[in-house]
Amino acid sequence: MTAEQKYGVVVCPKCHYPRGIKLGTKKSSCYHCSYNFTVKNLKIFYMTESEAELSEAVGRLNAKLRGGLEEYLEFLEEYENVPVGYEQLEPHKRIAAKLMHIPEPKKRLERLAFELSVELNEFEEADMVKVLDELGIRGKRAENFMKSLVENNIIYEPRPGKYRIVDSEKNMD
Ligand SMILES: [Zn+2]
Repeated sequence: MTAEQKYGVVVCPKCHYPRGIKLGTKKSSCYHCSYNFTVKNLKIFYMTESEAELSEAVGRLNAKLRGGLEEYLEFLEEYENVPVGYEQLEPHKRIAAKLMHIPEPKKRLERLAFELSVELNEFEEADMVKVLDELGIRGKRAENFMKSLVENNIIYEPRPGKYRIVDSEKNMD
C-alpha cells in the first residue's frame, strides 16, 4: 500500500464515456458498455492522487464530450483505440473520418476537396490517394474518383501535380 497511488481519466474507445482508472492498471473495462480496453493505448486526460478529484474530473470530461463532439464520437467508432484527440490525428485520417458518413458519391467528392483544401490548402494526388485509401477506395476506383473531381470542376490544377478547390466566389466577376 503506497500513499502515492495515482488515478487517471481515460475515455472508453468504444462508447466514449470517460471513466477513472488506477494508473498502472493494464486492462480495464468500461462502466457504460463493459468494453475491455488496454490502458496504455489510451490518452490519460487527467491525473490525480485524490479519488474525489478523480470523479470530479470524470464528470467534467463527460460533460465536455457530451456537449457537442458528435462528429468526433461517430468517427471514433471506426477507429478503435486511436488515442483520443481528434485534432491530433493525421489529417488524411481525420478527413476520411468526416467523409465516412456521407453516402452520396458526389457530396463525398465535394467534401473531400473541401476538407483537403481546408487542411492543406494546395494538395497533391498522393493526398487524395491517402484519404481514399482510408475509405477503402483504391486502384481504378480511386483514379476515377480523382478524375471526376477535375471533370466536375470541383478542383483544378494550378501547377503540375498540385490541386486546389475551385472557389466559385473568386471565379465570378
Ligand atoms: Zn464504453
